[in-house]
Amino acid sequence: MSAITNAEQNLLAESVLYNIFDRVNSTHFNNEVPLSRVKWSDRIGTGKNYHRFADFTVFQDKQFQPVIRLSKHLLAKENIQKVSEVIFHEMTHIWLWNTKKPWGHTPEFYEKIKTFNVDLLELNNG
Ligand SMILES: [Zn+2]
Repeated sequence: MSAITNAEQNLLAESVLYNIFDRVNSTHFNNEVPLSRVKWSDRIGTGKNYHRFADFTVFQDKQFQPVIRLSKHLLAKENIQKVSEVIFHEMTHIWLWNTKKPWGHTPEFYEKIKTFNVDLLELNNG
């Protein structure tokens, strides 16, 4: 991985990811997405999965939080808007799952995806 800039270093902080998660949840999901673990991963976005920037895991037992993994390769070529969009994508799956709906790339999934509006997140206002 090439040297990372200060901006990328700041984005690496997982607190930033939780901040994005909270903002997306309140602005796009009426806070209906269950609190999830959001973390960077070295293990996705490489090799045969190089085109995949994220994935998620959910657990039958609701005492275990869903997990969203984001490829660190997002940092190399993308910005906070793209990171937010990727988190939103994974959150849409978890939101559908949590409401006991089919949670793949269904028509309802794509309807929701179309509502993404990065401006609502006000990411530059702290
Ligand atoms: Zn997906």
